[in-house]
Amino acid sequence: MRIDHFETDALMDVAARPPLVMVEGRGSWLTDHAGRRYLDFVQGWAVNSLGHCPAQIAAALAAQAQRLISPSPAFFNDAAIELSRRLAALSGLSRVFLASSGAEANEGAIKLARKWGALHRDGAFEIITFAGAFHGRTLATMSASGKAGWNGNGRRAAPSPLPAPAGGGREATGGEHVGLFEPKVPGFPKARLNDLDSVQALVGPSTVAVMLEPIQGEAGVVPATTEFLRSLRALCDQHGLLLILDEVQTGVGRTGTLFACEQAGVAPDVMTLGKGLGGGVPLAALLAKQEVSCFAHGDQGGTYCGNPLMAAVGNAVLDAVAQPEFLAGVVERGAHLQRHLQRLTSRHGLAGERGRGLLRALDLGRPIGAAVVEAARGLQPEGLLLNSPREHLLRFMPALNVPFEDIDRAAAQLDGLLAKMG
Ligand SMILES: *Cc1c(COP(=O)(O)O)cnc(C)c1O
Repeated sequence: MRIDHFETDALMDVAARPPLVMVEGRGSWLTDHAGRRYLDFVQGWAVNSLGHCPAQIAAALAAQAQRLISPSPAFFNDAAIELSRRLAALSGLSRVFLASSGAEANEGAIKLARKWGALHRDGAFEIITFAGAFHGRTLATMSASGKAGWNGNGRRAAPSPLPAPAGGGREATGGEHVGLFEPKVPGFPKARLNDLDSVQALVGPSTVAVMLEPIQGEAGVVPATTEFLRSLRALCDQHGLLLILDEVQTGVGRTGTLFACEQAGVAPDVMTLGKGLGGGVPLAALLAKQEVSCFAHGDQGGTYCGNPLMAAVGNAVLDAVAQPEFLAGVVERGAHLQRHLQRLTSRHGLAGERGRGLLRALDLGRPIGAAVVEAARGLQPEGLLLNSPREHLLRFMPALNVPFEDIDRAAAQLDGLLAKMG
């Protein structure tokens, strides 16, 4: 594709992208090659927790880049030590492995659970995961995800007497779809979110862990209920299983608390973070209780894991996000966005809104999500960037410090657009 003087053919064509090239970002705003501006409520897919190019991240990168970029993972470095200590203190999970992507952190969680099962559970290796789940794009994390075609070899989900939650469990649980990249990694049977019986039915001698997102993000902002999370904790305790929470999308303030599981009062054995932790740079983390942390030398690692350039950014992000006033601000902004979405729902006869903090979805009630995303991007004089994870849904994931007036502006743009689309 030719866009102005840019020729894009050298890029592998792995995603449908609009014909524009982003060249600059500041706060809530992105600017493309033609100088057009967009109000950004996607923010790098929920990664820019402090908006585009925030001063403290630019400063942390510049300072660290002038001091030490990569001593190799074979040595300690001060930035990684500090970030790990802070994450351990904030989460209560006292062992931390720093990684570069959410998928890598989840892959590490899967490896840790399998090693723990080999050592303590007679070789148990199965990890019960969920229809609708998203855990990443490595082979194992694809298998752990509950997306049609992604999860080849897991046992089928138990038949459920309960209806599947809206948006979750909609897709079939493997087998009946032609799979991608076969053969898949086995050992990820699928249960249904918020259906404890479907989990119980899958627990057997090979089971070592239950893994889920507190709110399924890619499935369309589908929350696990507090009751379900508490029941899973009790089930895991009863059977000696690990509870693994994937907080790659929900963690680091996104839902109004530092970790979403705090709101349910549930403590996992293993937790993963990513996205917002790096504020836009590749940084993720695998956290585990000390007694679960059973990797031996050589079991886990990676050239960039714990590199000080990224860890310094993680520290800068925590400096801001871990403050109680900052988290209170996320709750206020979330409530403000929610009021707007409720107003839009009644004005335009939509199906409703849901979510927590600044991870929210608007149910349009009909399959016009992609059309709305495209029309919003083309709005004059400034575009609005939104995401549609399901054909009837819009997802909102602005910066955690998004100005209130930018929320008002986005809601006004959407109001006008929905009126026009009828
Ligand atoms: C985005 C996401 C991942 C994958 O993270 P990457 O950094 O893209 O590898 C895993 N789990 C959840 C819940 C996510 O939202």
